Amino acid sequence: VIVLDRVCKNFGAFRALTNVSLSVSKGEKLVVCGPSGSGKSTMIRCINRLEEHDGGRIIVNGHELTKDSRNIDAVRREVGMVFQNFNLFPHLTVIKNLMLAPRLVRHKNKDEARAVAMKYLERVRIPNQADKYPSQLSGGQQQRVAIARALCMNPEIMLFDEPTSALDPEMIAEVLDVMTDLAREGMTMVCVTHEMGFARSVADKIVFMDAGEIVEAATPEAFFTKPQTERARQFLSQIL
Ligand code: ATP
Ligand code: MG
Repeated sequence: VIVLDRVCKNFGAFRALTNVSLSVSKGEKLVVCGPSGSGKSTMIRCINRLEEHDGGRIIVNGHELTKDSRNIDAVRREVGMVFQNFNLFPHLTVIKNLMLAPRLVRHKNKDEARAVAMKYLERVRIPNQADKYPSQLSGGQQQRVAIARALCMNPEIMLFDEPTSALDPEMIAEVLDVMTDLAREGMTMVCVTHEMGFARSVADKIVFMDAGEIVEAATPEAFFTKPQTERARQFLSQIL
């Protein structure tokens, strides 16, 4: 479903990604980890063209990401993304946050959009927060709204960029639980996260990045019990 083939990305003279190749098949869950600045966000952002790659190829659901905006639109229709800082619209209530894109992009009428929004608020277990504003919610609740908002667009693939790293410890589990549900339901997922318990129980494959390159790609079992490189061993010893 997702193929990256020797993807390169530069910011000026700085090489943020060098020959990154990976593939994610339908229903597969990929966890991406690695030290700060290793290119994890840049890589995941290239998948829905929030960043433009300079070399190599990216193909998502059969659409190659090129300058052709039709392909970019097609990919964005099929890919949902959740960020570290929720990125909810502060001036809209929860339900309005969820209804916005289905109304504008999918041309759903109000009742349809509201029904879909409520369905996903129930899925993330906060239907009673529908009429609050984001600032009135806890971080964990806001992030669950962000996940529900992405799901309202009925994506085939979900990208997560450190969805729990801005949360207080007691709120991390509620977001990971929602992500685990989603994984169980068969969603194709790419998750940048340092939550290694989640990685171990949910990931089919783990990619470890350092300095813009994929240094290791392995099953969670292999990665956690016998990392192949010194860099991965060091990283694991710091976060476990
Ligand atoms: P973190 O764990 O801190 O989120 P990361 O692995 O997600 O790190 P990236 O955000 O992908 O790392 O950044 C990779 C490198 O590219 C970093 O050195 C960063 O400073 C650089 N970089 C990222 N975005 C830009 C940009 N828009 N302009 C210039 N440099 C950038
Ligand atoms: Mg990042």
